[in-house]
Amino acid sequence: RQSVRRFATTAARAAGEGSTAYCTRVSTAQGVVNGLTEAIGNTPLIRLKKLSEQTGCNVLGKAEFQNPGGSVKDRAALFVVKDAEEKGLLKPGGTVVEGTAGNTGIGLAHVCRSKGYKLVIYMPNTQSQGKIDLLRLLGAEVYPVPAVAFDNPQNYNHQARRHAESLDNAVWTNQFDNIANRQAHIDTTGPEIWAQTEGKIDAFTCATGTGGTLAGTTRYLKTASDGRVKSFLADPPGSVLHSYIQSGGTLIDRSGSSITEGIGQGRVTDNLQPDIDLLDGSVSISDEKTIEMVYRCLDEEGLYLGASSAMNVVAAKEVAEKLGKGNTVVTILCDGAYRYADRLFSSTWLESKNLRSSIPKHLEKYFVL
Ligand code: PMP
Repeated sequence: RQSVRRFATTAARAAGEGSTAYCTRVSTAQGVVNGLTEAIGNTPLIRLKKLSEQTGCNVLGKAEFQNPGGSVKDRAALFVVKDAEEKGLLKPGGTVVEGTAGNTGIGLAHVCRSKGYKLVIYMPNTQSQGKIDLLRLLGAEVYPVPAVAFDNPQNYNHQARRHAESLDNAVWTNQFDNIANRQAHIDTTGPEIWAQTEGKIDAFTCATGTGGTLAGTTRYLKTASDGRVKSFLADPPGSVLHSYIQSGGTLIDRSGSSITEGIGQGRVTDNLQPDIDLLDGSVSISDEKTIEMVYRCLDEEGLYLGASSAMNVVAAKEVAEKLGKGNTVVTILCDGAYRYADRLFSSTWLESKNLRSSIPKHLEKYFVL
């Protein structure tokens, strides 16, 4: 892959100006990869053309929706399984157990199928039947359990841990506090962004669920650039991390909720802890701005994005405006809108969240559901 990249760079230089379309195609091409796990990562870095024009910056989105399981979490799924194998905790025929209602489960399901492991998923029973069906279809054993707080022993995470402890040759992958998750982004996402921009990146921003993406990518980019690349957390309503960073380390209990899924956090996870001090700041993004960006990305960029991706794009825009013209800002396009379409593109649902008026008149044509 390195040689493909070198060739692409050389081809770009040799071809000169006006041939960027050809060069882009060469640089993203891959040879044969050995199985699904090798198809994870190496996603394109897409320049958001309209937003870049509007801000006078290069606003770039890492197309994580192109991973085999459709999200950025495929990377963490692969690394937590590989880590368990390397530590001798998981041997052929073994079982992976995780507590998750979202993309991590889907990523793990693909990785486990591909490697021949069984997968057991615990999730709160408030989740949609669609999510349960998809995980079962991908071969997972799924246990919807009462949605109780983390300090209750019946919480889905504790049930997942106990299930793994009750079996031989089984591991609880514990995505929130297992730093193999963050390592995925130190070893892959960060280096890919650095190579794709040829080091010409000024800032990075993204939201956190487990914190793996933000922490690992920030760690790599700061190291590669000797601290020059700035990094900012993007935080939705209801998450405590924005106020934590703004206040210099106080965990303030914040009420409120967000339409974004998979992001927002009530604590500093073990994945985020080692790198939180590397951050240069944070931006808090309202649901009003996020939902408008879901529609704008579709209309102006042709990108069909989930809400966390759209929120990241709003954050990238705000960081670009803060840094000024000529800067290159990179963010993460975590997943597509497919799993959320019945809500994000329903005027009735948006009305119920008081968000319908956030969609400008000329974008109401997307109210098709
Ligand atoms: N966006 C979506 C849609 C997700 O499912 C997740 C993971 N929960 C994230 C963003 C955040 O990624 P991370 O866990 O690496 O912080």
